[in-house]
Amino acid sequence: MDFQKLVDVYEELEKVSSGNKMREILADFFKTVPKEDIAIVAYLTLGKFSSDYENAVLGFAERSILKAISSAAGVSSGKVRESNQKTGDAGLTAEIFLKHKPQTLVPVGKLTIHDLFDNLKKLADTSGTGSQDQKSIMLVRMYQQVSSKGAKYLTRIVLGTLRMGVGDMTVLDALAIAYTGEKKNKEILENAYNICPDVGVMAETIAKKGLKGLEKIEVQVGRPIKMMLAQRIGDLDDLEKKMPGKVSVEGKYDGERVQAHKTKDGKIQLFSRRLDNTTAQFPDLVKYLEDIKAKEFILEGEILAIDENGKPLAFQTLMQRRRKNDVEEYIKKVPVQIKVFDLLYVNGKTVFNDPFQERRKIINKIVPKGKHIMPAEEILTDDVEEINDFFQKMLDDGYEGIMIKALDGVYQAGTRGWNWIKWKKEYVKEMSDTFDLVVVGAYYGRGRRSGVYGALLCAVYDSENDSFETLCKLGTGLTDSVLEELPEKLKRYESSKKPARVNCKKEMIPDVWFKPGVVVDVLAAELTKSPFHTAGVALRFPRFLRFRDDKKAEQATTVKEVSEI
Ligand code: ATP
Repeated sequence: MDFQKLVDVYEELEKVSSGNKMREILADFFKTVPKEDIAIVAYLTLGKFSSDYENAVLGFAERSILKAISSAAGVSSGKVRESNQKTGDAGLTAEIFLKHKPQTLVPVGKLTIHDLFDNLKKLADTSGTGSQDQKSIMLVRMYQQVSSKGAKYLTRIVLGTLRMGVGDMTVLDALAIAYTGEKKNKEILENAYNICPDVGVMAETIAKKGLKGLEKIEVQVGRPIKMMLAQRIGDLDDLEKKMPGKVSVEGKYDGERVQAHKTKDGKIQLFSRRLDNTTAQFPDLVKYLEDIKAKEFILEGEILAIDENGKPLAFQTLMQRRRKNDVEEYIKKVPVQIKVFDLLYVNGKTVFNDPFQERRKIINKIVPKGKHIMPAEEILTDDVEEINDFFQKMLDDGYEGIMIKALDGVYQAGTRGWNWIKWKKEYVKEMSDTFDLVVVGAYYGRGRRSGVYGALLCAVYDSENDSFETLCKLGTGLTDSVLEELPEKLKRYESSKKPARVNCKKEMIPDVWFKPGVVVDVLAAELTKSPFHTAGVALRFPRFLRFRDDKKAEQATTVKEVSEI
């Protein structure tokens, strides 16, 4: 299949902003795609060339891309750079210069999606000295094989900035419509995607085995599973209604969630909350996990930075471990510990549908109790007083609160279910709570903040409709250093028009739009009904706490959650 076919679809998608229309365009297109190409096409529709958890990066510097444009177009690189400064988008720059390509002596043929896909993999594998030049040469060849519109999208793909506003679920929905003709398959799609968050594998399964195939999708060690989340209650006394009888109560640790996979060959891989592969960041943790008495496992825990006595340190300290360089040095500077709290698979057996009590018993048996690795602290009780005492103890020990778990509860992948209930110190202090919100816009600042963003427009995620609904304007808590960091963080998400999937009332239209990507942690006093926000409610007195780089836009607080609160 020619890449140009995909380019025509990108062009169509770029013109529309309604999620339904996008789904229609994609479904019509997928009907024309041969089954053997569908996985590749599904990735490329999202601007990717592999599943997210493979962490494959092209590592293309913009200057190498501009160099490739100048070679392919036969114009000076100075001219290309100058024009790029004006467009601010290397994709547009490529389109402009490649309208009139010089005639090459040897006809090079057209770029197929298979060629493109193979080339992208090759680009990702090319590193080290001289690699930027090699990458440029490969890109020049591809430029010679595509139209000027094709050059625009190709550039955005290699730069990692191709965001058509299409979410993974929209692509999967469109695939199901194209291959099964059925529209009411949201639940099946979501359930399968929670266990197999790989758009390519999902696409191929739908195309070859239909929805029945999806229902049979199985856990695979080495491929992360979407993580289960916790519900919240307003009052500890309400617990009895939600979870009657005896419960398990664990500490709620404020670190970084990790899902660890050990395959039969002994290889251990770590995945973050966003399902990124973080193994390279934590070689020390991999060693500690080797002490677990099981040949194969998928387990979950919280990584905490600790002091020399094993006491927990702040979340910000742990964030210093989020690095590619000087890893060994930081293992010493910021030692870590893992508190293991769940087990999804062990020695050839999927256990996440077993009662929590059973899973926890195995954890207690196979996880050693040391300074760097241990099962999460736990009590079993049906007494609220006892739960509260344990909660106070956890706070005294420097933790965030407690997690209350249903003893017979299954692991609800990718779901905020009632089998886990969280109880944090913020809930007790006053009626304040934290929310993870998606930045969808910004307003220019005035006075002291002129020249920088003065406030952000934040949204919650509507998982039913795959859309983002505004919830508040956020100005408080943005310190000078945060304000300085913002433009850099938000730049790649900037959008010249209201992004697809974002809904906003006219009273709230921001000065600059952002495609959903950056998530922030916000503290607020309460929620009130609001005619100005599409969430239907608004946050009162929101205050910025921190960036949640560990979360994707679709993992933000949902409309359903705020309406329940
Ligand atoms: P918060 O901002 O309150 O941490 P969240 O949206 O990040 O909320 P929740 O579903 O509310 O996530 O809480 C679950 C998170 O708490 C998990 O992602 C995990 O990182 C952390 N956690 C800490 N201790 C535990 C535990 N014992 N069991 C499960 N999760 C735990």
